[in-house]
Amino acid sequence: MTAVIPGTGRAARRSARRWGGVAAALVTALTVTSAAPAPRIGVTGTEPARPRNVILLVGDGMGDSEITAARNYTVGAGGRLAMDRLPMTGSSLTYAVDERGRPDYVTDSAAGATAWATGHKTVNGRVAKTPGTDRPLPTLLELARRQGYATGSVTTARLTDATPAALTAHVTDRSCAGPADMAACPADAKERGGAGSIAEQTVALRPDVLLGGGADVFGQRITAGPHRGRTVLERARAEGYQVVRDRTGLRAARPDRPVLGLFADGPLPVEWTGVPARPGGTAPQRCGTGAPAHPAGTPSLEESTRAALELLTARARRAGAAAGGFFLQVEGAAIDDRAHDADPCGQIGETVAFDRAVGAALAYAARHPGTLVVVTADHGSGGQILPLEARPPGRSATLVTDEGAPLHLGYASGAPDDVQEHTGVPVRVAARGPYAERVVGVHENTALFHTVRTALGLRSIH
Ligand SMILES: [Zn+2]
Repeated sequence: MTAVIPGTGRAARRSARRWGGVAAALVTALTVTSAAPAPRIGVTGTEPARPRNVILLVGDGMGDSEITAARNYTVGAGGRLAMDRLPMTGSSLTYAVDERGRPDYVTDSAAGATAWATGHKTVNGRVAKTPGTDRPLPTLLELARRQGYATGSVTTARLTDATPAALTAHVTDRSCAGPADMAACPADAKERGGAGSIAEQTVALRPDVLLGGGADVFGQRITAGPHRGRTVLERARAEGYQVVRDRTGLRAARPDRPVLGLFADGPLPVEWTGVPARPGGTAPQRCGTGAPAHPAGTPSLEESTRAALELLTARARRAGAAAGGFFLQVEGAAIDDRAHDADPCGQIGETVAFDRAVGAALAYAARHPGTLVVVTADHGSGGQILPLEARPPGRSATLVTDEGAPLHLGYASGAPDDVQEHTGVPVRVAARGPYAERVVGVHENTALFHTVRTALGLRSIH
């Protein structure tokens, strides 16, 4: 683990100076902190020293370039998104490793999520297992659950996709989503005595709240073991899950039993549409923000986040709950997906939808002292903000922002007719609440595991 920089140090002050809008308030906080020895930076008078809740929000593929494009388009270059308002900011080094432990400078989402979920870097494609020996690694959600915390995971992807999977399953390859998808994970197959697919392992773990897409995978039939012949969804129902399929069902869900929300067959539909980037550029365009692909009953990421927070709060307070708090991960998944397709409107719309979920988390934290909120990403994506006169060799597009200025975006991390790749840049990690100062500085992406584990007082298991 990287050394933690003390919150009262010079690095924290340097970080504070970067925050134009909140700098004054923060400088006051710093002054107060340096006068009194005990309180932590960023903690108000009512905040306990240690959090009881952790909300970890992950923008998949959301590097600084993607955040800046969304900020420019919506609130303006000098404006602030919700995610810009967290007082503590650091930088997370995202590289993965190969099977021999050498750096692989560009991570995928499986290795990226495994890093903060388990505290270990792994090979691209692997989910919460070691790089060389392919052994399962305990995850934050498993540790939190074992210790009596309520737990949840919300995503716009399938619940079996790499980022949510890294908290709830251990498989050799991210493609092993359902019982029919086990070709790349022979050691994990039920037939060979393994724990089964991501969907099966997720249901078996029984987190309190699971909200996302992937009804197609949960509809696959289990091929071995005591549940053979049933679909994963039938098994979940038989084991007491409330299965909800839309907004109405989500609103009716009760906290007394686990909730499995499957709001789409595949991933959830994206929010915004527009003309994708193309070689030679596009005409200046405004994005379509009406979410035409969104069926009326599909909850937004913000709605799902609010519902999860309500359910987990009730769940954490139930009689007999040991810890009295919760751990929740929220993923905005399709920022990455839209960037792969050089679709700037789709990418910005998903970043904005994710930012609304961040806003919901911050509002919750303001009402519930003792909530650590962390916002980060797994890796950057290929879009770059370019000068208007640039003539990039790859695909490009021009948008007209809400403040009326042209925004030129280039995509050249893959051939023009191919997918655009991830990049190896560090990503922002921002936090508020008790222990927030631990994110300040430059850290490995695995450091977040140790921060959350220490914050919630989770014991390791081996
Ligand atoms: Zn990706």
